[in-house]
Amino acid sequence: MKKLAKLATLALLCACDLARAEYPDKTVTIVVPFAAGGPTDKVARDLAESMRKPLGATIVIENVGGAGGTLGVTKVARAQADGYTLLLHHIGMSTAPALYRNLQYKTLDDFEYLGMINEVPMTLIGRPTLPASNFPELLKWLNANKGKVNLAHAGLGAASHLCGLLFQSALKMEMTTVPYKGTAPAMTDLLGGQVDLMCDQTTNTTGQIEAGKVRTFGVTTLHRLPAPPSLAKLPTLDEQGLKGFDVTIWHAMYAPKGTPKAALDKINAALKVALKDPEFVKHMTALGAVVINDNRVNPAEHKKYVEVEINKWGPIIKAAGQYAD
Ligand code: ASP
Repeated sequence: MKKLAKLATLALLCACDLARAEYPDKTVTIVVPFAAGGPTDKVARDLAESMRKPLGATIVIENVGGAGGTLGVTKVARAQADGYTLLLHHIGMSTAPALYRNLQYKTLDDFEYLGMINEVPMTLIGRPTLPASNFPELLKWLNANKGKVNLAHAGLGAASHLCGLLFQSALKMEMTTVPYKGTAPAMTDLLGGQVDLMCDQTTNTTGQIEAGKVRTFGVTTLHRLPAPPSLAKLPTLDEQGLKGFDVTIWHAMYAPKGTPKAALDKINAALKVALKDPEFVKHMTALGAVVINDNRVNPAEHKKYVEVEINKWGPIIKAAGQYAD
């Protein structure tokens, strides 16, 4: 009898413990679908730093690069929906459906949308040994080297791929594209002179531009950037003749479909605190990024925005005749 009472007490204690074990009670992993040290990784690591406290959990980053980010996204779509595996991805979430005929996930059905993070312009840069130090000189060099020019990117569906695609189509010129698992390794090869050109987020290029280590040909926004000073002086590609050239990359956070609402609410609340963290805002601003401060930090508006972007980029990509299996 005594034994039974003891067992009943133990069972009660266990039930209480379970009820108390609220999310999060272990490490949260954010999957970045590109290589470490690149622009997506940089945003994720800065954000994780600012989300750790409000979420009340250790956050680690897992880099799953390859296939323009789609490998990492697929991994998260198939992960356990318990709030401990999240995804931080960029505009590729909306360009991949037009680029891949056999995408292993459904962008709008397989994820919980957690909110958007920032918007980041891009810069067209070249290897330091490129014999052109401004855009008109680059055009001359490109014309003189038709068929020999190569352009680095982070795979079909990457931001750098989208920008490179628009660049080639604006010039009506085909270049040899060289895919990497992220633009961190691509930058290493560009600095070493193994590839000629790359278009990448300012979160990756600003340091190299400020150090004078790369050739810089322009920014991808319609208007010149307000900050930081090293980027503000760069002309746009639009004003240099590529009329209407306009690409801005955005980043956002996702969880696998079916993640419990209680966990989603906590992650979104922590994300909103992080987006207002002066340290996070300072880091992003110094790299030319703008932290999102409107209703797209809410799941419903985030999802609506992705739908708008899918409908915007799909026809542009299809018109450029690009796809993969
Ligand atoms: N910025 C890269 C891209 O082109 C990805 C990365 O390495 O973060 O999408």
